[in-house]
Amino acid sequence: MKRGISACLAGAIWLSGCVAPGAASLDRAAEPLAVADARCSDGSVAIDTAFDAGALASCTVGDDGRISITLSPEDAPPINCSAWYAFRLHSNAPRVVGIDLNYTACGHRYEPKVSYDGVEWTYLDPAKVEVMEVEGTRMARLSIRTDGRPIFVSAQEIIVPATYDAWLDGLEETGMVERETLGHSAEGRAIEIMYLGNPAAREQVVLVGRQHPPEVTGALAMFPFVETLLEHTELARRFRERFRVSAVPLLNPDGVVKGHWRHNTGGVDLNRDWGPFTQPETQLMRDVLVAIDNDPDRRLRLLLDFHSTGRDIFYTIPDELPTDPPLFTRDWLARYQDRMSGYEVTRDARHEVGRPISKAHAFDTYGVPAVTFELGDETDRTLIRRIGREAAIAMMEELLATERP
Ligand SMILES: [Zn+2]
Repeated sequence: MKRGISACLAGAIWLSGCVAPGAASLDRAAEPLAVADARCSDGSVAIDTAFDAGALASCTVGDDGRISITLSPEDAPPINCSAWYAFRLHSNAPRVVGIDLNYTACGHRYEPKVSYDGVEWTYLDPAKVEVMEVEGTRMARLSIRTDGRPIFVSAQEIIVPATYDAWLDGLEETGMVERETLGHSAEGRAIEIMYLGNPAAREQVVLVGRQHPPEVTGALAMFPFVETLLEHTELARRFRERFRVSAVPLLNPDGVVKGHWRHNTGGVDLNRDWGPFTQPETQLMRDVLVAIDNDPDRRLRLLLDFHSTGRDIFYTIPDELPTDPPLFTRDWLARYQDRMSGYEVTRDARHEVGRPISKAHAFDTYGVPAVTFELGDETDRTLIRRIGREAAIAMMEELLATERP
């Protein structure tokens, strides 16, 4: 007798004829999960954060298999609302898992990205993300389809010290980059510095990145920016002959590893510490700048600091305030705009004397142009690569056009 579909829908999926060949019969064959370091589990689904940048405050699995995650900043509010999350979802069989992201401060900001290998990332289908306001806080309800392999779910791509190490290793293999450990974070993690260009060059450019842990798109721009300086073009060769670049791509490794929203482990926003220099991380940058300034054979020409915010924008020193080289920022961004057809470059020029951010500090102390280079949180990743590359080309052209000091 032919079995009707209704018998299957009634839950008798273990009866032959109701299950497609090869399909997992969830309630019978799937082994209960055994996930080391699980933050929550019911035996069929589990969550862990046992990887760099993994972070959540707590989680529970409801009777219906729905997972409720609570997300909190590393320090009490007020804190910048860069509400980071990253976790790994385990399931003992293919299924769709509902996950609620509940925020104790600020609320949902980053569109969820998913990855099976932590390398290739895709946006979670927006149709599977429902953002709602609950008691004044934006929470998100996610619906995640997993094929049974552990899957990362994260606010942004996971770019951690190991990622930077691999990138720097690759750059070193070109033979055009020197790399050393500049110093250590509060928790003893190495903070790496890389150099490119003529070691005897008088003119110095300083790059810094990742003061703010969640600001991954800044890193996604900094990588192609630096790579462009190493290209085998006539422009890049001339640039490297005349200039020396010192780059610290990951200034806050502790905050990145711990999945912080903003601070280092000293509870400090590093980009509000360029002046007091109370933290080991910012002290390293101070010393880089002071060493250049104390050397009669070297002159700082430019500082760029890579970040992320709601949109692509350059925070700059106003043109009315004289810098050396003069009007570099205006002319650099004009060149950059010329290279970016179909894209509008946005600049916000302002300066507050003594404000303890990298841009203001470099300008106040050394009189150089300094720029906070911000990428949008959700700017298209291919566009980010183009931005990083074209901004680097325009910078090289403009710096080469300046008078030698
Ligand atoms: Zn920032």
